[in-house]
Amino acid sequence: MQENGARPRILVLGGGFGGLEAAFYLRMKLGASADVTLVSDRDYFLFKPNTIYIPFGLDPDKLKVGLARPTRRKNIAFVRDRVREVDPEAKRVSTEDHRLPYDFLVVATGADMRPEEVPGLREHAETIWTPREMLRLRLALYDLLERARSGEHRRVLFLVAPNNKCAGPLYELVFMLDTWLRRKDARANVDLTLSTYEETYIQAFGPRLHEYVAGEFERRVIAGHTGHVARRVDPEAVHYENGRSLPYDLLVAFSPYAAEVSYPALPGDDRGFVETETGSRQVVGQPDVYAVGDAGDFPVKQAFLAFLQGDAAAEHICARVLGTEPETAFRPTSMCVMEQFDTATFAQVPLRLTGDPARPIEVDPEAADGYKVGSYAAWRLGKKALGYYLPFRFAFGNPFHAGIPWRGMEAGLKAMSGLLAR
Ligand SMILES: Cc1cc2nc3c(=O)[nH]c(=O)nc-3n(C[C@H](O)[C@H](O)[C@H](O)COP(=O)(O)OP(=O)(O)OC[C@H]3O[C@@H](n4cnc5c(N)ncnc54)[C@H](O)[C@@H]3O)c2cc1C
Repeated sequence: MQENGARPRILVLGGGFGGLEAAFYLRMKLGASADVTLVSDRDYFLFKPNTIYIPFGLDPDKLKVGLARPTRRKNIAFVRDRVREVDPEAKRVSTEDHRLPYDFLVVATGADMRPEEVPGLREHAETIWTPREMLRLRLALYDLLERARSGEHRRVLFLVAPNNKCAGPLYELVFMLDTWLRRKDARANVDLTLSTYEETYIQAFGPRLHEYVAGEFERRVIAGHTGHVARRVDPEAVHYENGRSLPYDLLVAFSPYAAEVSYPALPGDDRGFVETETGSRQVVGQPDVYAVGDAGDFPVKQAFLAFLQGDAAAEHICARVLGTEPETAFRPTSMCVMEQFDTATFAQVPLRLTGDPARPIEVDPEAADGYKVGSYAAWRLGKKALGYYLPFRFAFGNPFHAGIPWRGMEAGLKAMSGLLAR
């Protein structure tokens, strides 16, 4: 309750991983003691990680969960509208059609792509981000297949552009394409290359993942180049800051990241990501505002990290509303399963902020026991299970990561990683 006896008004901006996790957690823990409102410019949740299957035939509609039903079920007011700005002094959010007051605010409006930062990228590359881009990539891959089968030699270059904050999906796509082409007897005529600005492969996830990827590249005959910062893209080649150029017939790129919405009234970094206090996700200098997921300044952008942040922010707000101590804080351990079609790779990576802008994140040396990587076909089942479990939780208005069912999943994952990761 507020001092005036009114129920606190909690506003959540964004209906993605971080926003829904926070909204459903708040309702789960606060019951009727707060009003919760969710604002999103879309009336559905998109399960972005599984958009990697769209180029290989998945219907994008299968990745959507409508927001009307779960919000109604959990008595969360749903406003479908586009957020324009936050006024932390007046404690009010302006959307295109509304002015919404709040007592506590959770910003979870995600990230966007800035292909224009590399001249020529937007014009010449198939970029990955939205389902529409993944559908365009599908057309390009079917064209590649046809040409390779008819005996043409093709060069496919995968490019992780500088300032990309979530390189993993591009590695998944190169492995998936390799397996897909082999299964269709079309691999012999296709050269696969991946170049990245990172100093090591999937740098944020540390040396073990790098070693694994390097081994897979060798086994699958994929050429890999680290430390290649793209400067310019021509119709036939990518040119790098180190003076090298790599030619291509098909270029598949993951662009630089920036915030989807920039909030001039909140402290932000040079890409518009909102500055936060790590554990609570409280915005620096704005104790009633929290930022979670891709919208915040945590240097790695990942769905699993968005869940952990959504839980931490929601728990912090619950404690303030209920007058208790928060039971959890954000401790960045990333978890992911990398699809390869013939196998899949599980990684659990405890992370630590370094304070060094050039290398802001590292594997936490004090939690080395929790750093696990393992590659087995059985992990594909794990990825499939998540693909069913997450939409199921959200469709009924429940947080994914918090609550008893996750503890069961976690126990299963622990058992699996004990056997299938080291
Ligand atoms: C191809 C691909 C594969 C990926 N694979 C993985 C993976 O395997 N594992 C993993 O952990 N992560 C993966 N990620 C990253 C993951 O998808 C993101 O980190 C995650 O979506 C971040 O969640 P979020 O809630 O912060 O943002 P989002 O999920 O992007 O949600 C943002 C929400 O805000 C809404 N919104 C945006 N602007 C406005 C506005 N102005 N007004 C109102 N609402 C707005 C959007 O509609 C959306 O609902 C992948 C990403 C991509 C692109």
